Amino acid sequence: MTSMTSEAVGVSPGRVNLIGEHTDYNDGYVLPIALDKTARISASRGGEGDVVTISSAQLGTSVVLDVLEPGERAWWGYIAGVVWALRDAGHPIGAIDLALDSDVPLGGGLSSSAAIECATALALDQLASLDLTPEQLASVSQAAENRFLGIPTGPMDQRASLWCEAEHALLLDCRTLTARQIPFALPTDLTLALVDTRSPHVLADGHYARRRASCEAAAAVLGVTALRDVTIDELPAALARLSDEEHVRRVRHVVTENARVLATVAALEANDWAAVGELLTASHASMRDDYEITVPTVDLAVEVAVASGALGARMTGGGFGGTVIALLPTRELQAFTTALTQAYARHGFDTPQVTTTRACAGGIALSLRR
Ligand code: ADP
Ligand code: MG
Repeated sequence: MTSMTSEAVGVSPGRVNLIGEHTDYNDGYVLPIALDKTARISASRGGEGDVVTISSAQLGTSVVLDVLEPGERAWWGYIAGVVWALRDAGHPIGAIDLALDSDVPLGGGLSSSAAIECATALALDQLASLDLTPEQLASVSQAAENRFLGIPTGPMDQRASLWCEAEHALLLDCRTLTARQIPFALPTDLTLALVDTRSPHVLADGHYARRRASCEAAAAVLGVTALRDVTIDELPAALARLSDEEHVRRVRHVVTENARVLATVAALEANDWAAVGELLTASHASMRDDYEITVPTVDLAVEVAVASGALGARMTGGGFGGTVIALLPTRELQAFTTALTQAYARHGFDTPQVTTTRACAGGIALSLRR
């Protein structure tokens, strides 16, 4: 019994997906790592009834919610939605105060949203001694986004935030929701650079929904449950059966991307970083030419990275801007940053921001006794 606990803290990171883009809703594979940037939720028992108080240090504001009703898209919904999902699953979460502090950049494609959901789930699990399983923690976190806010995102972000281990990437099978830890320990002469392209990713509802619909329509034509069921060997025959040119491009991306995720896993297990790099760049070309989700800022960042000696580079995230990752010789990092800044200036793009990261640990909970 942990009734002594009067305050619990959940800390959970943002993530970056190394490879496997738009494969999630096709029941395929993704390969994220957790970042060294985290959201932190301090949870303590509140006052009367079921009132939920939520504050954000970054926004400098707070809300007091007497009732939790799904539907409204507001910043606090990512947190309130977890409380709602826990109550909906039958867990008695009464009045609660939740204070958020996060250094995951908002809306930068690094999943600040999952970080705050998972931090909330971890804090509440600890505070109320719920003993949730890793999958239950992930599913209540995802429910906040899908069911409370009504945003149709896939299963990756929350599982990455919760399940990643340091020096490992997480191979997640989006059909079975099973995961495997894949070694991702960069040698010191290699660096994983993250480029904020300063073109905020829009989960451009229209584009996203259209691509999802194309994939579903193509899967129906091919008579499979999801495009994950088409193997790379079956691809030529599958493409020959599609009459719609757009379906051909979309299917080619998804099927080759799933194969690239598995090839990346094999390359990491063989410690073959050159092969990993080539797969990253091939993934970018596929997103640019077949899935048509890149924009000039991200294409330029990839181009400059490769010209600067990167083993490989690609846009990560849903598309239309956001973050580019580059696997670079550490000694080229400075020259790359300079070349990229100059190239962006020449094109009249906003100055990009280059940081580096490594594979960090997933979320944890702590209890504070007062
Ligand atoms: P991403 O998850 O890629 O960062 P999303 O659009 O999915 O982008 O989630 C960003 C949203 O999450 C913000 O618009 C805001 O509503 C919420 N959010 C994230 N971090 C914070 C924070 N520190 N304070 C308040 N809201 C936050
Ligand atoms: Mg998000």
